[in-house]
Amino acid sequence: MNAPYIPGAGLWAGLNRRWARFASRVPMRVHTDHAIVSFSFDDFPKSAAIAGAAALEKRGWRGTYYASAGYAGGITHHGTMFDAGDLQRLTSKGHEIGCHTYSHLDAAAVPTSELLADVARNARALEAMGLETELESFAFAYGEATPAAKQALLEHFSNLRGVRARINRGATDRGLLQSVPLDGGEAGIARAVDAAHSLVGHPGWLIYYGHDVQDTPTQWGCTPDQLEQVCDAVEASGARVMTVAEALQTLDADA
Ligand SMILES: [Zn+2]
Repeated sequence: MNAPYIPGAGLWAGLNRRWARFASRVPMRVHTDHAIVSFSFDDFPKSAAIAGAAALEKRGWRGTYYASAGYAGGITHHGTMFDAGDLQRLTSKGHEIGCHTYSHLDAAAVPTSELLADVARNARALEAMGLETELESFAFAYGEATPAAKQALLEHFSNLRGVRARINRGATDRGLLQSVPLDGGEAGIARAVDAAHSLVGHPGWLIYYGHDVQDTPTQWGCTPDQLEQVCDAVEASGARVMTVAEALQTLDADA
């Protein structure tokens, strides 16, 4: 059982986070008159691959799973983690496998060279597990980024995701896409539902990110029922649901 790591707090970490947000922006326009929603799961627990995928698939939707291969086959505070069989099953159904870091490194806490080595190790490990699809999308662990890391990773990935709880609208940074959590208990899920409702009058690209999907979730997870509530709200909004890579392609084509 791993103790959850908490990224840097305090004034310096806050300033660095702001700096990472504004420096090395790679702008893209999210101008869409038809809202897009992407569901993503980080790390990722087997419950996300099973209960999470089932919730999406029954509506004909697919999600993006940001894999940390260092967790594969193991048990963390999120429960049992994904394995090679999950990669195979998810990709065969059209879900996207995205890249996290191998050892769930905090990108703001290590030199960029160390981060890149860990990301490359993740890509090699996923390939060794039988993953045949390209890794197009990357998510920063803890949402922690630096300008140098953003720049370096965009040479390998078409988009990078953070965890700032906003909807991507108008001028957006493809090097730090914003995303709304599927956690935080009833209050957090109510905010996630509200985000979907807001798409009706004000379209944009809403990316959700979650972790475990189980009856007794961690503070970073949700119950299958809570995921259903969010899916219901998304369906009612009329948004198109697609993986992060598909959404990006659609938005780039419309730009
Ligand atoms: Zn993570």
